[in-house]
Amino acid sequence: MKKPQQITVLGATGSVGLSTLDVVARHPDLYQVFALSGFSRLKELLALCVRHAPQFAVVPEIGLARTLQDDLVAAGLDTRVLVGEAGLCEVAAHPQVDMVMAAIVGAAGLRPTLAAVEAGKKVLLANKEALVMSGALFMQAVRRSGAVLLPIDSEHNAIFQCLPVDYARGLGPVGVRRILLTASGGPFRETPIADLMGVSPEQACAHPNWSMGRKISVDSASMMNKGLELIEACWLFDARPDQVEVVIHPQSVIHSMVDYVDGSVLAQLGNPDMRTPIAHALAWPQRIDSGVAPLDLFKIARLDFQAPDEQRFPCLRLARQAAEAGNSAPAVLNAANEVAVAAFLERRIRYPEIASIIEEVLNLEPVISVAELDAVFEIDSKARTLAKQWLVRSGR
Ligand code: NAD
Ligand code: MG
Repeated sequence: MKKPQQITVLGATGSVGLSTLDVVARHPDLYQVFALSGFSRLKELLALCVRHAPQFAVVPEIGLARTLQDDLVAAGLDTRVLVGEAGLCEVAAHPQVDMVMAAIVGAAGLRPTLAAVEAGKKVLLANKEALVMSGALFMQAVRRSGAVLLPIDSEHNAIFQCLPVDYARGLGPVGVRRILLTASGGPFRETPIADLMGVSPEQACAHPNWSMGRKISVDSASMMNKGLELIEACWLFDARPDQVEVVIHPQSVIHSMVDYVDGSVLAQLGNPDMRTPIAHALAWPQRIDSGVAPLDLFKIARLDFQAPDEQRFPCLRLARQAAEAGNSAPAVLNAANEVAVAAFLERRIRYPEIASIIEEVLNLEPVISVAELDAVFEIDSKARTLAKQWLVRSGR
C-alpha cells in the first residue's frame, strides 16, 4: 500500500484550515498531518495538535511557542514548536512534505506560500491575496520549480474542473470564450444603498451562504472578494481581465462556469461547502469523499442570475481597474483593502469608506513594474501607510 501523503496546513485554526483537517481526518490511509500553524487561537491549535499529532506546530512568537511546547509535552506529544515566518517557511518547504494547504489570510501568507512553491510542492492555494500581490513572480516560481498549483477558492476550483487538462497551452487553443465567475452578492445585495452607511461588522460578516473568516466575509459583502478573485483567475488561467465576467448568482450552487466558442457553457455545481474544493484538490486527479451532503436540486428548485451593479459595489470596479493596470496596482489594491477592512472590523470607519480609502490609495500610488519580491513588500508597505494616513487625517 502507498504511504500516506504528508501535508502541512498553514492557517490550520481558520475556516479553510479546519475544513481541510475535517477532510484529511476522513482519510487517514491517504493523508497524514505533518505541520499545523496558528496565529491567535492557540488553545484551538493545541487541540488540533492533540487530534492530528503533527511533527511541527508554528506560532507567531517565542512566548506563545514556549507555552504551547509545555502544553504539548504535558499532553504526551513530541510535536516541535517553531516560530514566526521562518518557521512557516520551514514547514512549507520541508523535504518530508508532499503538499501544503496555503490558508493563511492576507499578505502574511505570501512568503510561506512561495516557500512551498519554490520547493516544488503540491500547493493547495486558498490564500488568494498572495497571488494578487505577486502574480507574475508567483507564476514564474510555479513554472520554474514544477510545483503543482491547485485552486481551493471554490470559483477557481470550479473553473479548473470545467477546463480541459491541456488548458496550460492557453485558453485560446482550447476554445474558451469567457470565464463566468459567479458571486452570491453577499448580505447587502438588496440593501438600499443609502442604508449601507450604517451597516455593522456583524451584518457584513453574516454571509447568506458561506461560513468564512471575518476578513473574507467583509470582502464578500463589498465584492472586493470577487475583484480579488478576478485577478486570481487571470493569473491561474492566463486570462485577460476582459475575458472574466462576474455573474451574481444568489444561491451559490453554481461555483463558476466556462463559456466555449461553440456555445457550450460548462458549470460545476455543489452545496456551498469548502470541503468539496478541498477534497477535489487533495485527491486530484482522483476523487474522495468530502463529507459534503449530495446536492438536492429539487430543494434548490431555481437558479437566478443578475449583472453586478458597480454603484452598489465600487470595490469591484476598483479591482477591475487594478487588474487592467496590472504591475503594482493589484498589490496596492490588496494592501489598502486589508487596512480598510481591519479598520471597519474595529468600527473605526463606516462600510462605504472601505471603497473610499482604496480609491484614494490607488489614485495616489503610481503603477510601476515589479521585478522582485522585495519590491512587492515595499509597495505593500507604502500602500498601507497611505491607507493609515487616510484614517489619521479623518480622525479615526
Ligand atoms: P480565517 O480568518 O478563518 O483563518 C485565517 C488563518 O490564518 C488562521 O489560522 C489564522 O491563525 C492565520 N493567520 C491570520 N493572520 C496571520 C498572520 N499574520 N500570520 C500567520 N497566520 C495568520 O480565514 P479563512 O476564511 O480560513 O481564509 C483563509 C484564506 O482562504 C484567505 O486568504 C481567504 O481569502 C481564502 N478563502 C477562504 C474561503 C472560506 O470559505 N473561508 C474561501 C475561499 C478562499
Ligand atoms: Mg471564492
